[in-house]
Amino acid sequence: MTYHINGLHHVTALASDAQTNNDFFTRTLGLRRVKKTVNFDAPQVYHLYYGDRTGTPGTVITHFPFPHTRRGQPGTGEVGETAFAVPKGALDYWQARLSQSGVAGLTRSDRLGEARLCFAGPDGEALALVETDDARAPWTGADVPEAHAIRGFHSVTMCLAEADASAALLARLGYVETGREGAVTRYALPDGGNGAGRIDIEHAPDTDEARQGAGSVHHIAFSVPDRDAQDAARRDMLDAGYQVTPPIDRDYFWAIYFRSPGGVLFEIATDVPGFDRDEDIAHLGEALKLPRQHAHLRAELEQRHLAPLSD
Ligand code: ZN
Repeated sequence: MTYHINGLHHVTALASDAQTNNDFFTRTLGLRRVKKTVNFDAPQVYHLYYGDRTGTPGTVITHFPFPHTRRGQPGTGEVGETAFAVPKGALDYWQARLSQSGVAGLTRSDRLGEARLCFAGPDGEALALVETDDARAPWTGADVPEAHAIRGFHSVTMCLAEADASAALLARLGYVETGREGAVTRYALPDGGNGAGRIDIEHAPDTDEARQGAGSVHHIAFSVPDRDAQDAARRDMLDAGYQVTPPIDRDYFWAIYFRSPGGVLFEIATDVPGFDRDEDIAHLGEALKLPRQHAHLRAELEQRHLAPLSD
């Protein structure tokens, strides 16, 4: 069978302090915490998910907060910026709100005809809000008015020393080039996908390689509907010469991973079963959820490793 990538599924980044991370993405940016679990490969560390009401694919930014970890050094071979979509006219509201919250690096600019507000997250990560027409319904449980609230991802910008092989990979995944401005080339899904169907490549051949740390994007995940589509995508990536992991159960989706030519770790994740698999939608993100293989560690994790998070 063939497969169809729907856009981004989630973006996963490294962080330092869990509470600071939680407060920034929920209170300052007004996203909903849709899951509080642990890093399945390092259960002493939280895995925190923020998105819309249900954690719809294309809205979810996730973090591994490693306490006291040093900041990453931006550079090539990584996602240099993560951008969220907001309605047209919303940036004045956001500039005032973020400025009042003491957010650093606030800068207004324009890319490919869209107004953007760039800023730094709590670990120095490069984030942006981009004004665009977007039909997705926002989470309105925070104090951000619906008219201004984040709709989900707009795009990510990969900063790459090489761009051609990555562009060919995006083409194989269904993306087409839709614009160029300076060193940036935009690739997008012709049908828009789930709303998070854009990837920008910033070609930076003279920039040093990034060093991962707090604030760095660890990987980006692309969305497919189900495991059949994921199997088809996996076979296609194997045919293209990529080393792809077997499907891995992440409880809320199934994941496969492979390294893209420019150095960015790619994941292809299923839209099912979703974040309401083990919690009512009304209570998403409230309780600490542990995967079956780590359930026996609950007492130790709660007492020694995972400081309680206030909402
Ligand atoms: Zn992931």
